[in-house]
Amino acid sequence: MLLTGSPEAIQSRGPCVLVPTMGALHEGHKALIRQGADLAEAQNAPGGCVVTIFVNPTQFNDPADFARYPKTLEADAQLCREAGAAAVFAPEVGTVYPPNEPPPVPPLPEVATRPGLEDAFRPGHFAGVCQVVHRLFDLCKPSAAVFGEKDWQQLQVIRAMAREQNLPIEIVSSPTIREPDGLARSSRNRFIPEADRRAATAISQALHLAGEQRSPAEAETAMNRHLQAASVAVEYAVVRDAQTLLAPAADRPCRSLIAARLGPVRLIDNMPWPDASRSSASAG
Ligand code: AMP
Repeated sequence: MLLTGSPEAIQSRGPCVLVPTMGALHEGHKALIRQGADLAEAQNAPGGCVVTIFVNPTQFNDPADFARYPKTLEADAQLCREAGAAAVFAPEVGTVYPPNEPPPVPPLPEVATRPGLEDAFRPGHFAGVCQVVHRLFDLCKPSAAVFGEKDWQQLQVIRAMAREQNLPIEIVSSPTIREPDGLARSSRNRFIPEADRRAATAISQALHLAGEQRSPAEAETAMNRHLQAASVAVEYAVVRDAQTLLAPAADRPCRSLIAARLGPVRLIDNMPWPDASRSSASAG
């Protein structure tokens, strides 16, 4: 497996399947990389699966969060190797953002700024995400890229950006990988204070509970009640149209989405609404 900071070294291998990450890799990333490696093989992409590891300064609106973001390149490279990556692209900041010619910030898709979701709590975050993903696409020239459902709004933003900019890149999604107690895996989980670790499971419980309710309004009430009872500081706990993230519309897939804070850590998670087993039960 190649480990490089050189875009030329990546491009010279031919079209690849890209898995963009910020490192501190865990089982969730591993599943994405495995999926990327399988896809590269199925598509005969000569560059194989390329994992990018870059902690992007432009998408952090909290300097403390950026400063403490874990950096574990050696262990990350090992995980990538095990998961079947052909290469790791870990560029320097100056490669991604050359001081003399800063890369353009692509137009922000509307789905990035839906009121009450990420933009309300992390203003500017998706502008940074679009900028870095667009730049990584440009540096690595992939034919496809894999993103996790864990960051649901981000996935919709990237899909919209690719569509609106006519990028010749297939955007593929990968399901959320969880701890045994239901907590979605995240590089930030290691910072959850021990005393809050049990409360953190209330997030996935609330999403399951939402899935059992008969209407989006009841689902939102159930989520907020459950999180409040567990003393979780909620930023939002809502049901939205799964693709547009506007208010839910009848006969369109919906998603329950939560953002919450546990001590110094901000966690996000989501699940389909209604619960898949409930919708198939009611359909039957
Ligand atoms: P990050 O390194 O946190 O920026 O995440 C890199 C990619 O991994 C993104 O596409 C995330 O959505 C995805 N990801 C992060 N956590 C998980 C998880 N628990 N399950 C599946 N995908 C994940």
